[in-house]
Amino acid sequence: MGTDDAVVIEGLRKDYGTKRALAGLDLTVPAGTVQGLLGPNGAGKTTAVRILATLLRPSAGRALVAGHDVVTEPDAVRHRIGLLGQHAAVDEDLSGRQNLELFGRLHHLGARRAAARAGELLERFALADTGRKPVSAYSGGMRRRLDLAASLIGGDGTDGGAGPQVLFLDEPTTGLDPRGRTEVWSAVRTLVGGGTTVLLTTQYLEEADQLADAIAVIDAGRVVAEGTADELKAKLGTDRIDVVVRDATRLQAAASVVGMAAGAAEVTRDEDRRLLSAPVTDRMAALAETVRALDAAGIEAEDIALRRPTLDEVFLHTTEAREDAA
Ligand code: ATP
Repeated sequence: MGTDDAVVIEGLRKDYGTKRALAGLDLTVPAGTVQGLLGPNGAGKTTAVRILATLLRPSAGRALVAGHDVVTEPDAVRHRIGLLGQHAAVDEDLSGRQNLELFGRLHHLGARRAAARAGELLERFALADTGRKPVSAYSGGMRRRLDLAASLIGGDGTDGGAGPQVLFLDEPTTGLDPRGRTEVWSAVRTLVGGGTTVLLTTQYLEEADQLADAIAVIDAGRVVAEGTADELKAKLGTDRIDVVVRDATRLQAAASVVGMAAGAAEVTRDEDRRLLSAPVTDRMAALAETVRALDAAGIEAEDIALRRPTLDEVFLHTTEAREDAA
């Protein structure tokens, strides 16, 4: 491993009885980056995070966090990490400030230090104005921001005892509305700006696309694809040509023309938007041929565009390919 790696996972396996949740997971996360761990329900994301956070012992393989082995040096690991789980344990009846101070005391900060740290974190996560309201009155987004702030209290940190080196975020925006989600994303960006390494598990492709420097797609307990969002799209997805047909009654005819011209076996149709979409291999040839063929058939197009695949398409492609192989 490089000394700049915040997380190193090698051949990690976890069996729950006969159920194999992790089947030889390998992953390296450079310090100061956001690593997305993307996978469907039951892929093993939570299991991996719980092992890295020393809450669960692996059945085989090895994992280092901030240079320390999660099995043989759990205390050293715990001092350097923060964990935001799917359900964080804040007290509903206390205010945000009181919760943070309590967490600070639990992390052995003295009363003054805990109060100062609570103040800093409320400020940093735009909760200063609401710091005295009970948590039960918070919106979903505020709740998650408070969870995030609470997960940052501990750790030896890199900035004078403030905050963990590695932060695990397990589905941090599940159940939030779009606004809450955007707020949490912005809070995570702030953190990373401060040098924290983040391992983010998510089922939302857009979230990984927005936040992660690198993404590992995991399925059935192992990494099935890895790279930046753009690399994954380029490597696994197929470019597409989208055509909006002016006359809805010509959609069917246009679909066969576009299919032939693009050399595509399958053309998807969206009746409401009068939109056809087909995968292409040679972008420019497909574009030229589609324009020519539609013209020859007397079909008018309102819009024709080449586009890169979305991460959703890549994700479906990788996980479906695995199902087909199974
Ligand atoms: P989700 O997004 O639903 O949380 P996940 O990717 O986090 O999914 P895990 O929770 O790590 O997946 O679960 C991986 C597999 O291990 C699943 O098939 C799950 O049913 C199984 N599993 C998890 N915890 C246990 C347990 N305590 N006992 C038995 N099986 C378990």
